Amino acid sequence: LQSTLPQMLEQTCKRFPWRCAVYFKGQQWDYGTLGVLVKKFAAGLHSLGIGQGDRVAVMLPNCPHYVAAYYGILQLGGIVVQVNPMAVPAELEHYLTDSGAKALITFAPFLPVVEKVKSAEGLAARIIVELPPTDSELPAGWLRFENVMALAEDLPEVSVSPDDIAVLQYTGGTTGRSKGAMLTHQNLYANAYQSHMIMGGDVDNPDRILTVIPLFHVYGMTVCMNMAIFGGSQQVMLPRFDLEEVLQTIKDTKPTVFPGVPTMYVAVNAHPQAEEYGISSIRLCASGSAPLPVEVIKGFEAKTQGMILEGFGLTEASPVTHFNPRDKRKAGSIGTAIPFTESKIVSLQDGETELGPNEAGELVVRGPQVMTGYWGMPEETAATLKDGWLYTGDIAYKDEEGYYYIIDRKKDLIIAGGFNIYPREVEEVLYQHAAVQEAVVIGVPDAYRGETIKAFVVPKKGVVLTEEEITDFCRENMAAYKVPRIIEFRDALPKTAVGKILRRTLREEAKGAGA
Ligand code: ATP
Repeated sequence: LQSTLPQMLEQTCKRFPWRCAVYFKGQQWDYGTLGVLVKKFAAGLHSLGIGQGDRVAVMLPNCPHYVAAYYGILQLGGIVVQVNPMAVPAELEHYLTDSGAKALITFAPFLPVVEKVKSAEGLAARIIVELPPTDSELPAGWLRFENVMALAEDLPEVSVSPDDIAVLQYTGGTTGRSKGAMLTHQNLYANAYQSHMIMGGDVDNPDRILTVIPLFHVYGMTVCMNMAIFGGSQQVMLPRFDLEEVLQTIKDTKPTVFPGVPTMYVAVNAHPQAEEYGISSIRLCASGSAPLPVEVIKGFEAKTQGMILEGFGLTEASPVTHFNPRDKRKAGSIGTAIPFTESKIVSLQDGETELGPNEAGELVVRGPQVMTGYWGMPEETAATLKDGWLYTGDIAYKDEEGYYYIIDRKKDLIIAGGFNIYPREVEEVLYQHAAVQEAVVIGVPDAYRGETIKAFVVPKKGVVLTEEEITDFCRENMAAYKVPRIIEFRDALPKTAVGKILRRTLREEAKGAGA
């Protein structure tokens, strides 16, 4: 099935104009309204000189305008450049210059950051979203989102093909310099469709999808926004993860699907009254983006009676490639390859030989959701995509039934005294300790062993933990060479906007501190 994203939106708007598309802070946009707003925004942008193939940066928190901006850009044949709203000036500069963006759509409170960025000055259009709208004076050279929609009536006919690039999705940068993955309309349409299938979506009985993971991230973009539009479902949007607000929204709006990340479920587990908010009525909590420790699933399900299904994906695959089937899930596994997706494990030595069950190697995937390459980076593209197979950089194995298990990222592997240590294995043990809320393990330089193991531990609220207790617990539960030699307690861990623990920041801090 071939489609562009605007075609997908148009079909839903035509079929279900009365259905709520987005619910945000007590306000609702139905699909009929959304369709009109998207067309008006596309026409307005076009009148500002933005045309087919032009890149437009979107730097917004979750809000209804996000959907209108994203689909408006696509409608006129433009390319959306997804920008992390928490970007610092140097990062925004990178996104704008690397993509060659012609316009920027941002949110009023981000102006102090944008104003520090040289390349933002020369853009053909700079557009601001205000929530709530005001009539205060705007800085010179800026336009209000609402005013852009009033600029022109019609958009000239443009022909957008499913193989055109729709989005430049910058990699999270947890492992290095952020690259722009080129995702086509077809990639994104396929993954919205696949996500709808694996989550058991029913167009005649639409879901209410809790959209709290950020839309600028590939996971929120596909599994919340695009999947909702594919299925004629409603998004219940929140601009950030504030636990009290999330729980209250669950109670008030009764979402049916909650795509989240492990740290969100950890937070729910730590809430003393989480069970009182009706989480059990959510038919599916989907976890992806980082490993979901088995103890976290157990804690969450015992406490809330909810159900978490773990999946897997990456920016370069739009992102979803694996998911646990609803009728047979395996804790600790990312599930099986989703429909229309091929998956295998290849040797780490030659990158080619396919390995059998229970043999660890690199996970590679192929399917309609896999990107066409990195923007302007032919060498990195060639190193990552071979014969259509995407090399994920994750070490994994599969079992006899085709369920995959992520062991760790190739880059996170710790080599201490000649032993290979997978941080995830050590972390799984740390999570079993009753007083541990969060834990992460990294390798730090060591004169004698090459690298040694350092654990960062966030104790549960009000509990006093000692290094000795952690060390003794590890000694009892793992081989001696895996036991962390350095333990540091923290109140919180650095995280990306999607809630992924930032090992890179911890590694850099450790290097700087000489430990
Ligand atoms: P970068 O690729 O730039 O380092 P990033 O890690 O944020 O940044 P993403 O594309 O957002 O990039 O994340 C994809 C990676 O997330 C996968 O390659 C994998 O390592 C990890 N991941 C995703 N889902 C899971 C999961 N269920 N279990 C373990 N790891 C996961």
